[in-house]
Amino acid sequence: MASDLAVAGDNVTLFHVMDRLMERQLVPEDSILLKQVLENSGVSVLLNQTISSLSKPQEKVAVITDITQEFDAVIVACGFQPHTELAVQAGRTVGRGIKVNDTLQTDDESIYALGDVAELPNGKLYAFILPIRSQAIWLANHFVTEQEFQRWSPPVFTTKAKVHGFEATQPYQV
Ligand SMILES: Cc1cc2nc3c(=O)[nH]c(=O)nc-3n(C[C@H](O)[C@H](O)[C@H](O)COP(=O)(O)OP(=O)(O)OC[C@H]3O[C@@H](n4cnc5c(N)ncnc54)[C@H](O)[C@@H]3O)c2cc1C
Repeated sequence: MASDLAVAGDNVTLFHVMDRLMERQLVPEDSILLKQVLENSGVSVLLNQTISSLSKPQEKVAVITDITQEFDAVIVACGFQPHTELAVQAGRTVGRGIKVNDTLQTDDESIYALGDVAELPNGKLYAFILPIRSQAIWLANHFVTEQEFQRWSPPVFTTKAKVHGFEATQPYQV
């Protein structure tokens, strides 16, 4: 998003909580390269930033860390939390998401969950299109063939940064 906005001509400041960008997906050298690419496109990259609050006293939005800086607008991209209220109302077991077993079944054998909302036994939520599509196809086959002893397992996949002018030199980490 920062990359797109900068290319479109906006002044962008990127606050990141960790000491390097995409620390879960990139090796340190590529994090440094990504930072350089973003900075070359005009993005001001601020690392080790813990934002304590946002406020909008007037027209501008204030981003408060150790100091207060004002911007025209703020985009927050810091992960997601599944809506599990319906599952809770239905009495299902919920952790980070709706807990399912290896056959995507909740603790009610007639209720299944997949996608962003499903938490697999390894504690992971597979919140990307490719594994979710795999879950959907797997589940359809599971219902049709009734092969109870098969288990869904995630396909091999990696995430990829869509940043103008950036190509990682090392493979992305899963
Ligand atoms: C900004 C952004 C960028 C992304 N980019 C990528 C990407 O590049 N590549 C990639 O692989 N993935 C990407 N993702 C992740 C991907 O979009 C999601 O993992 C995927 O859409 C999740 O699909 P889903 O069907 O599980 O959930 P959703 O797509 O969230 O669908 C859930 C649906 O259920 C509906 N719903 C919720 N509660 C109820 C209710 N009580 N009754 C009826 N309907 C209800 C919602 O309205 C919604 O339509 C991105 C996500 C975001 C937010």
